[in-house]
Amino acid sequence: MDQLVANRKRERRLTILIALAVVAATISFGVAACSSLDQTPSSTSVNSSEPDDTPSARHRSGGGIPGAADGVLPDNASPFDTDLPGIAKLNPKLLKAVQAAAKAAEHDGIELHLTTGWRSKKYQEELMEKAIQRYGSREKALQYVASPETSHHVTGNAVDIGPTDADDWVNRHGNKFGLCQTLANEIWHFELATTPGGSCPAPGV
Ligand SMILES: [Zn+2]
Repeated sequence: MDQLVANRKRERRLTILIALAVVAATISFGVAACSSLDQTPSSTSVNSSEPDDTPSARHRSGGGIPGAADGVLPDNASPFDTDLPGIAKLNPKLLKAVQAAAKAAEHDGIELHLTTGWRSKKYQEELMEKAIQRYGSREKALQYVASPETSHHVTGNAVDIGPTDADDWVNRHGNKFGLCQTLANEIWHFELATTPGGSCPAPGV
């Protein structure tokens, strides 16, 4: 074979090999990038034949540990974090009042967070189950935790506010926005319970 032709053939083969390597690297990089977006351990192990039983998988299938879709909020959630279901599913009037209160509190140097907003029935039931285990009976647990049927968080009509200085601020100024502490033993639990500027009723039990 002519030496020049042989050299050209080798060059072409090399070019093809390099092109294939680039394509392979691009594909594997793409897969890695997609996997890192979905941070469930099971989704990254493509070839795993084990049943998908991670907490997030159980959550996706409807049972098990409540998650963000049930209203669980991250630390320091703001009433303006409306991408969170626990905030977005609040009664719009309550959400508006809390947002207005948060702005006014900020003006006074107080940062207002929501520790709980809306909760799913499942989440509330989970809290009830925990309380039953702790206090020994459903009857006793009901003294501390509302049932899914009666909780105002489940209907989106209650918020739990923190930290303590924010609770204190809302207890002093919340009525301007219609917000009142409605449970005597929960200084953090607020609902719309008066007309803006009106006075709050005494908290119940
Ligand atoms: Zn509450």
